[in-house]
Amino acid sequence: MRYDCAIIGSGPAGLQAALNLKIRGKDFILFGNADLSRKIRTAPLVKNYLGLPSISGEELYSAFSKHLQDMDIELTFEKVTLVYPMGDYFSLATGHNIYEASCVILAPGVFQASFLKGEREFMGRGVGYCATCDAALYKNRTVAIIGYTAESVAEAQFMAGIASKVYFIAQGKFAERPAPPVEIIESGPLEVIGEKRVEALKLESMTLEVDGIFFLRESVAPDTLVPGIELENGFIKVDGAMRTSLNGCFAAGDCTGKPHQYIRAAGQGLTAAHSAVEYIDNIKRSESHARAYKQII
Ligand code: FAD
Repeated sequence: MRYDCAIIGSGPAGLQAALNLKIRGKDFILFGNADLSRKIRTAPLVKNYLGLPSISGEELYSAFSKHLQDMDIELTFEKVTLVYPMGDYFSLATGHNIYEASCVILAPGVFQASFLKGEREFMGRGVGYCATCDAALYKNRTVAIIGYTAESVAEAQFMAGIASKVYFIAQGKFAERPAPPVEIIESGPLEVIGEKRVEALKLESMTLEVDGIFFLRESVAPDTLVPGIELENGFIKVDGAMRTSLNGCFAAGDCTGKPHQYIRAAGQGLTAAHSAVEYIDNIKRSESHARAYKQII
């Protein structure tokens, strides 16, 4: 099945885009998580949201959730790890599935992590961002999973069924931890080491000889998520209609630059949805012209 649009991110930008696509009757898939955005839920007091003076982040979260429910908008709880332009559509990979959509709205928020020394250099040569997607490449090999999110525990466990050895480098507190044979190490990562490919991971406490290293952070760098997309000062470059450098790919919210604020993110989500609708309608119009032409000849 091919969706009209795939929206990546469940913060104000992605949700506002979803709301407008729903109102315009488009068929879309919205990727995100149950918290919608931690940046919404953890805000102590929001004073600059028009019409909602002095609302707490938790109240804003409830209001957004109710709006989604009332509009019958579903969220798909999967993290998109790769978006690939295929010509007249996009292919999207999550750890579990591959999806197709005619266009994409990127609303993943800002990428805050800084890269580890050697990480960018060995990307695709032993460094990866989705352990479940690439697990088959590490059969009988040694892998380090640097886990920042709750989902990374399941990814480490999955990898343990394929690789000969899995280290879980825990970054932060986890309600659940990977079970043996995964070996948990509490130490800060310092450097990815190798020549042609990854050979080792240097930690504060030791150096591990590994064939692969997965960084499982909350968000993926925009140009890792969408290879070839143009950036400007580290943010996704967009025009006034929220078009990115890739045809059919739009972006909205913190991922496009500053100021990082709810109302700006939501406003850009709305603009991106309008541009996506125009794009989808154009595709459908050309398809129906092509069909009519075929019938004539
Ligand atoms: P986000 O809100 O960051 O949402 C992006 C969502 O997409 C996240 O849930 C993320 O997990 C998900 N995601 C990311 N990548 C993927 C992927 N590959 N696949 C699936 N899902 C993905 N702004 C104000 O205007 N007023 C305030 O008072 C205010 N207070 C704040 C207080 C705090 C503590 C913080 C941290 C921020 C505050 N902000 C405030 C800023 C505001 O939260 C952000 O500007 C806004 O949330 C940005 O919205 P967004 O939709 O671009 O991204």
